[in-house]
Amino acid sequence: MGAKTRQFELPLGPGSARRFRGLNQFCVYCGSAADTREHVPPKALLEEPWPINLRTVPACQPCNRGWSSHEEYLAVVLAHISDSPRLTAKLREGGAVDRALRGSPKFDDRIINALSEHSDGRVQISLEIERIAAVTQKVAFGLHALRYGHGCRLASFALVAMAGPGHTLPPEFAGALWNWPGVRKKRWTEVQQGVFSFIFAKTWMAGGAPLYCFMKLQDTLLAVVSCPAPIARAKRRLASPPW
Ligand SMILES: [Zn+2]
Repeated sequence: MGAKTRQFELPLGPGSARRFRGLNQFCVYCGSAADTREHVPPKALLEEPWPINLRTVPACQPCNRGWSSHEEYLAVVLAHISDSPRLTAKLREGGAVDRALRGSPKFDDRIINALSEHSDGRVQISLEIERIAAVTQKVAFGLHALRYGHGCRLASFALVAMAGPGHTLPPEFAGALWNWPGVRKKRWTEVQQGVFSFIFAKTWMAGGAPLYCFMKLQDTLLAVVSCPAPIARAKRRLASPPW
């Protein structure tokens, strides 16, 4: 066809579309065309007024909406287990969580049915752990993509440990947060003070994953998500400054 060959273009499938350098046009979660931007961490896990420097990643509509009921569930759980006045106020009549639960009697029933009395007389909540795992997996993935660049698969991230009020992290994870003398001090990134902060750390004691994302939610719940090693190729970096 020689020099007069006309251009012939074909759309890429979702798996290979992410090879395109204009990564911001593709959903970081599934690789299909992105038509929205999603906040990382999601606003459902933050408080108003929102921090001014909220970060976003490109996402498609289904991925942007797909986790929102789980995010809402986690926010409701945090309001139940926290002793912070800001959160307990949400449970009072007319508060944000009270209104959400009144608007959804089925959801309210699920939460109430999850409550039981502990042998020491306190009331406890039995968590729907797979919903918390889904949210923390997605948030860790988003934070990892923003910090280290995009290119990993969502399935390579998994919730591996959690600590709530009255709990401590297993020592192999707690040890990753210690500041050893003479070693560069570990620094948490505070997205919103007392509401959401995170840190990426290695822990040789836990084995397995090359990196872990620790997330502190409402100073109440600490979640640890195992992460893959970063893909540090510059071309995979998202077009936004690092944290
Ligand atoms: Zn998507």
